[in-house]
Amino acid sequence: MNSPSEAAVSGAEKIVCKFGGTSLADAAQIRKVRAIVQSDPRRRFVVVSAPGKRDKDDAKITDLLLTCWHLAAQNLDYSEPLHLIRARYDQIARDLGIAPLTDPLDEAAAELEKLARHEDSLATRDWMAARGEFCHALLIAEFLGAQFVPSGECIRFDEEGLLDPISYANLAALMSDEGAIYVVPGFYGRDQSGRIKTFPRGGSDITGAVVSRAVGALVYENWTDVSGLLMADPRVVEHPKPIEEVTYRELRELAYMGASVLHEETIFPASQAGIPIQIKNTNAPDDAGTRIVATRDASDVGIVGIAGRKGFSTIYIEKAMMNQQRGFGRRVLEILETNGVSFEHMPSALDSMSVVIGDENFDGHAPTILKELERTLEPDRMELLPPMALIATVGEGMALRVGVSGRLFGALRESGVNVRMISQGASEINIIVGVSEADYESAVRAIYGAFVA
Ligand code: ADP
Ligand code: ASP
Ligand code: MG
Repeated sequence: MNSPSEAAVSGAEKIVCKFGGTSLADAAQIRKVRAIVQSDPRRRFVVVSAPGKRDKDDAKITDLLLTCWHLAAQNLDYSEPLHLIRARYDQIARDLGIAPLTDPLDEAAAELEKLARHEDSLATRDWMAARGEFCHALLIAEFLGAQFVPSGECIRFDEEGLLDPISYANLAALMSDEGAIYVVPGFYGRDQSGRIKTFPRGGSDITGAVVSRAVGALVYENWTDVSGLLMADPRVVEHPKPIEEVTYRELRELAYMGASVLHEETIFPASQAGIPIQIKNTNAPDDAGTRIVATRDASDVGIVGIAGRKGFSTIYIEKAMMNQQRGFGRRVLEILETNGVSFEHMPSALDSMSVVIGDENFDGHAPTILKELERTLEPDRMELLPPMALIATVGEGMALRVGVSGRLFGALRESGVNVRMISQGASEINIIVGVSEADYESAVRAIYGAFVA
C-alpha cells in the first residue's frame, strides 16, 4: 500500500485523509481506515463523516438525525429514528471493542425532547445534523488512539455565512504536535453568534480541504467508495474509464454538473493553497485514483469527462426589437434576483432570450416570476418550456477546437438526440448542451462513445 520509504518521510510532510460515510459505515470499514492511516506515518490528520449507508437500502446517520429533528420540531414521535442512530453507534463500538458513546447521544436525546416541548434547546437543524460527525469522530479517535479535534471551536463562519479565514489558524494551533494523530469531525463549524452551522450536504469534503490548508498538507486524500472520478456517471455509462488527472477547474465543472464524488466547493481551500487532491478508494487502496492539480498537459485534445443532470426549466421570452431596448436583460435578471433565484445560462437571439434555471432554485417561485416578467417587460410571447437536462463535456482548452465540437454534435445527431440549447463559455473549458430529459441517458452515452474508444 504505497508506503513511503523512511527517507521520503520528513517530519514536515503531512497528509490529510478525509473518509466519507461509506468508508466509515461499520466496524469492518473502520478497520480498513485504520490500516490505511497506519500504513503511512504522514497520514496524521483524519477528517471523518458520519456513518453512511452499509448497503443501498440502509439509512445515513445524517438523514436519520434530520428526520428526528423534523419530527421533534412538530412534536411528533421520533423514537424510531433515534433508536436506529443509537443502535448503529452502539454496534460499531461493540464490534470495535471500545466503550459505547453515551453522553453525546444522551445530550442529543435531551435536546430533542426540549425541542418537542418548545423549550429552549440547542437543537437547531444544523446542531442536530452535526451530531453525526461529532459522535463518529469521538469513536474513531478512541479506536485509533488519536486526539479528537473540536472543529466546532475552530471552524468559524463570518456574518455572510462564509468560511472565516481565522479557522486556519485555529485548527493549526490545535494540531501542532508532530507525533500525534488527529481526528477532526467534518461538516460543521460555528457562526458569528456561536451557533453550530453546517456546510452544505456532503460538506465533510470541505472540512478536509480546510484542514489541508490549515496544516499545509502535501496532499489532501479524499477516501471514498470508488477508485476516483470516472469519465461519466456509472449509473448511465457502463464501466466508464477512471480519470487519472484533472485540474481544479475541470473538477469543479464536473462536480457542479453532477459528478458528485467530490463536493464542488471543496476545492477552493485546497486550490488556493496549491494542495493537490487525491481521490482514493477505501475498499481498493492500491488503485491509483484521481489526482486533482492546478495544471495538466491537455495537449491530447481529448475530453476529461462528461457530467450532467436533469431538472432545468427554461423561460423563453420574445419581443420585437428586443436588441434595441437597453436594460432588457438587466430587468429580467433583476426580477430573478429579487425573488432570490439564480440562473444557469442565458442564450439569446436578436429578438428573444431564454433563461435556464435549476428547478431546485425555481420551484415555488415560478408563478410570481412569470407574472412579474409579463407585467414589467410586456413580451410578445413568453413560455415556460418543458424540463430539460444539461450535459457538460469538460476538458481544458477543448471548447474552441473545431474537431471536438464537431465530434460531439455529430454523435448527438447520429443517435437522434435533438439539441435544445448550446452554451460554450469563453473559458474554453466546457461545452454545455441542453436536451429533453427523456434524451438525457442516450445523449451522455453518445458523447462518451464519441470520445472514448
Ligand atoms: P462519500 O460518502 O465517500 O463522500 P459520495 O457518495 O459523496 O461518497 O461520492 C461517491 C459516489 O459518487 C460514488 O459512489 C458514485 O456513485 C458517485 N458518482 C457520481 N458520478 C461519479 C463520477 N463521475 N465518478 C465517480 N463517482 C461518481
Ligand atoms: N454527513 C454529511 C452528509 O451526509 C456530510 C458528509 O457526509 O460529507 O451530508
Ligand atoms: Mg461525499
